[in-house]
Amino acid sequence: MAAKNEAQRLEALLKLNLLDTPISESFDRITRMAAQIFDLPVAAVSLTDVDRQWFKSRVGVAHDTIPRETAPCAEVAESCAFLVIPDFAADPYYRDSVLGKNGIRFYAGTPLVTRDGYGLGALCVLGTEPRTATKTELDALRDLAAIVMSQIEMQHAFGRIEPASGLPNRLQFFDDMGDLARDPVCSGRVAVVLDLGQPHQFERYTTVMGPSALDAVVAEAARALRGFLGPRMTIYHVGRTQLAFIAPVGMSEEAYQVKLLALLGNGELSREIRHIATPVCGIASFGGSSSDPEDTLRALLSAAQDARSSDSVVAIYSDHRDQLHRRTFRLLSDFSDAMKADDQLRLVFQPRVDLATGHIRSAEVLLRWTHPELGEIYPMEFIPAVESSPLVKELTAWVLNAALKQIASWQRQGRDLPLSVNISASNLSDADFVDDVVSALARHGVHPCMLELELTESALMQDCSKAMAKLDEIVSLGMTLAIDDFGTGYSSLSYLQNVPARVVKIDRSFVKEMETTEREQTLVHSMIKLFHDLNYRVVAEGIETSAAAELLRGFGCDEGQGYLFSRPLGIDDFEVLLHASHIPSVELQPSQAA
Ligand code: C2E
Ligand code: MG
Ligand code: MG
Repeated sequence: MAAKNEAQRLEALLKLNLLDTPISESFDRITRMAAQIFDLPVAAVSLTDVDRQWFKSRVGVAHDTIPRETAPCAEVAESCAFLVIPDFAADPYYRDSVLGKNGIRFYAGTPLVTRDGYGLGALCVLGTEPRTATKTELDALRDLAAIVMSQIEMQHAFGRIEPASGLPNRLQFFDDMGDLARDPVCSGRVAVVLDLGQPHQFERYTTVMGPSALDAVVAEAARALRGFLGPRMTIYHVGRTQLAFIAPVGMSEEAYQVKLLALLGNGELSREIRHIATPVCGIASFGGSSSDPEDTLRALLSAAQDARSSDSVVAIYSDHRDQLHRRTFRLLSDFSDAMKADDQLRLVFQPRVDLATGHIRSAEVLLRWTHPELGEIYPMEFIPAVESSPLVKELTAWVLNAALKQIASWQRQGRDLPLSVNISASNLSDADFVDDVVSALARHGVHPCMLELELTESALMQDCSKAMAKLDEIVSLGMTLAIDDFGTGYSSLSYLQNVPARVVKIDRSFVKEMETTEREQTLVHSMIKLFHDLNYRVVAEGIETSAAAELLRGFGCDEGQGYLFSRPLGIDDFEVLLHASHIPSVELQPSQAA
């Protein structure tokens, strides 16, 4: 057999994952029948490995392997043809073989051939007396070999078909990509993943409809995709609600992007399932010897995630964005350690200034993280990731504890300075949240009136009666509630009336625009008037210039926060600022950056 063919034959054998697997009754049954038909003591399903014959099933022999050299089964595998040796003693080639020397006189073997024509080994019978084989016996042996092969193929397919959809699964996708990547003619192929929606969307759906309803959704999407791809292309079911396919040779990522945009754009794919599915596609290339199928699937899913968070529904894999996803993931996994370490997290303090008097009324605490390897990490990079994980509870507890400790320390020095702590929407869905805050206050001996909790407008809008009850409780206990970043969410004024907040912080984007646009000035002025009518205390965020501070003071804005007065400062610098008894009045020069 040519060396090239032998390499492919071996690959076909290895792919079936049969070698060195345990004995199986389903194969032994066939081997026993072969022995019975020939009325011989020995029979085996013998597979031809690099240098050995390994018996997947055997009767009448103790050992499970013999050397490949001079083994008749190796000849059967290589030639893919029947072999009958009526008498070893009379056969010049096999006379001195291992079997021959061990008393075997008769051999009949029929090849085990894959659909692609590779001979894996043989189903054989052996005897210790010379003998011939009748046509009937050989026909029976061939039929039994066909049963062995069906069994091998069935067992192989078993782990490769997704039962819910009947489509080839992720393992098959990996195998096929691996095969294509190795083929030099096909290097640089494009793969596509179709992600039908986010897990939480489907979670709700299956809660209502039952888990198998999701199978119908996937089946519907697969049908639509089949209509788009035509009958000859393979669709893989690579995740619970993710399908994938490999584009034909010669298709570029960009060409597929256009086609898929059209497919998803015309709603064809999700017509029947549009009320639950929000399909997006990720595209990535693979190929070349270094290409790893798992990496390709990861790249595809990363691209699909990009598509989901962008305006488009189809995205091509970007290494840069992938790096960002990986970094965010790393930060999230390192954050637990950061909370335990005593030198990674710290609070910085940004004063809130009474615009009329220039006095510091309170300060907002902001979290800072010095990662041992990545250096300084800003909250916008890690807080959104932590907020969508269970770690958010610990994060808020850490910040609250550090803030209350600071308040208590100042109080011991005779200074009463309230602090504002940012809390996340998900803290409100934690049943113990209020109790935890109350016990933290008690532990530090701090009165609730010294603590303000800031929640963004969009967090407050997450309508939930339980969350609202918690807010009422927080306020009734004497803490202050502030609406943070006002103007960045939906800003439903009617909703605001129901929130027991007494402070509203106008987002810094308005303050920034206000300096240059008259319309924005009118808007900010009207907001301040409206909030005063609703009994809110108004804080403007992001004041960077004296001009902005002057305008806001003129509009009657109560407080300001921003670089003009001070950047967020570490505790030592902040205490220096506090000791300077009086924050520079709004007309004074901007503070030096810390
Ligand atoms: P935020 O609560 O709105 O905090 C104000 C942000 O604006 C801070 O950014 C602050 O440094 C920045 N800032 C203050 N004055 C100015 C100014 O004059 N100009 C400009 N351009 N920016 C100004 P930071 O510290 O990067 O925090 C960003 C966001 O991260 C915060 O927005 C808050 O939503 C979140 N965050 C920070 N610390 C915590 C925390 O401990 N817990 C939670 N849940 N979120 C936090
Ligand atoms: Mg805030
Ligand atoms: Mg804010």
